[in-house]
Amino acid sequence: MAYIAVKGMQDIYKDQAASFNYIEEVFKAVCNLYGYHEFRTPILEYTEVFDRSTGESSDIVRKEMYTFLDKGDRSVTMRPEFTAGVIRSVVENKLYATEDLPIKACYVGPVFRYDRPQLGRYRQFTQAGVECIGQDSARVDAETICLAIQILSMLGFENLTLKINTIGDAESRAKYREALKAYFEPKISTMCEDCQQRIKLNPMRILDCKVEADQEIAKGAPKMKEFLSEASEKRFYETLSIIHDLGIEYEIDDSLVRGLDYYGEVVFEIHAKSKAGIDYGALLGGGHYDGMLKTFGGPEMAGVGFAFGLERVYSVMKDNDLFKELDNGLDVYVMPVGESVLDDVFELTSEIRTLGYSAETPFAALKLGSQFKKAEKRGAKFAIILGEDELAKGVAQIKNLKTQEQKEFKLDQLEETLDDAFGEDDDDGCGEPHEHSKEETK
Ligand code: AMP
Repeated sequence: MAYIAVKGMQDIYKDQAASFNYIEEVFKAVCNLYGYHEFRTPILEYTEVFDRSTGESSDIVRKEMYTFLDKGDRSVTMRPEFTAGVIRSVVENKLYATEDLPIKACYVGPVFRYDRPQLGRYRQFTQAGVECIGQDSARVDAETICLAIQILSMLGFENLTLKINTIGDAESRAKYREALKAYFEPKISTMCEDCQQRIKLNPMRILDCKVEADQEIAKGAPKMKEFLSEASEKRFYETLSIIHDLGIEYEIDDSLVRGLDYYGEVVFEIHAKSKAGIDYGALLGGGHYDGMLKTFGGPEMAGVGFAFGLERVYSVMKDNDLFKELDNGLDVYVMPVGESVLDDVFELTSEIRTLGYSAETPFAALKLGSQFKKAEKRGAKFAIILGEDELAKGVAQIKNLKTQEQKEFKLDQLEETLDDAFGEDDDDGCGEPHEHSKEETK
């Protein structure tokens, strides 16, 4: 048997891992601007956590969960999404019992869905998202949408479209479900097997169906807005008016219902297009919910949240060259000339790192030509070259690999030399400060 990754799962390393880190950093930095704090909940939850909140009518719970019995015969599930676990945590830890509402939770980590693997769809993927819990207001909805847009804008996305809809309160949704049932019932025998289940569990899910013939039938279905209560309609227009005042453009999409059962009232997605107009579909989705805390034995409290998949965001960013500013290069490549200086070069490399600059050395006295090739591959900014003669004089050579300028420096002035070299490199005429990884070591 060949040792390969589990179907639908992928290894992420090197540039892709660095890009994921970058996306996570931007995500966390923008969340911080809005007062969010990170939640790290377990990957495994008792299965009821998802059954009862994500919902038995959702595709996720019906057929996509990695569920198994643990050694104590308890049914556990690898999280297929974050919201249910975060709300479970808020209730279990009684975090809602504070004057300081709303609770603003952000998270990032792997989720697992036994989906059909295809381009851009994995069985393990990474979600980043937020939940704002405990204050029910159109302003909270609007702030959350604004946060979502700011994250994607800070990542460099330009052609974004906010699609928004309301699926109303519980009463509006109950009436709507009845109307959809009546509409789909005479047609359901011609529709896909999933839809035949969906009509029994939650006919709103039919509107999410990806089968083209079913989508055609769904086009003629009654619209949510005909069943909206006055309160839900008012709430929706309040949210729209606030986001309009924030200068955010939106498109009302009355077919948008979202695939998870816990949503109510406002739901939204953010879609992206390339400069040339290629439509990438939804990058991020979210909405408002109100019954979830109660489901877990907590108080009646509303929340609003969203999540995006890092894999999706990464591939669209790569397609649009949005990582070109990323600098993952090494500061210094330290080159030994001859076997006899290997130990000294090894120590010198270590000293450079303690000064806060990233450094590597080949551990062997390779020919200088191949060392320069390695340095280039690693994106090194400077090379430090040390041979026996230099060592005897207490000096070494430092070479700027961009300008090819080379000069001698005294080894006991290493720190000043590096600070100078990287300081000078800042004034290279590009205007932008030059990045290097010097950490504050004091
Ligand atoms: P959801 O939790 O289904 O609303 O999905 C939120 C986001 O996660 C989507 O907008 C996608 O970016 C991403 N996503 C969902 N399913 C997958 C998958 N199977 N593989 C990769 N990304 C996914």
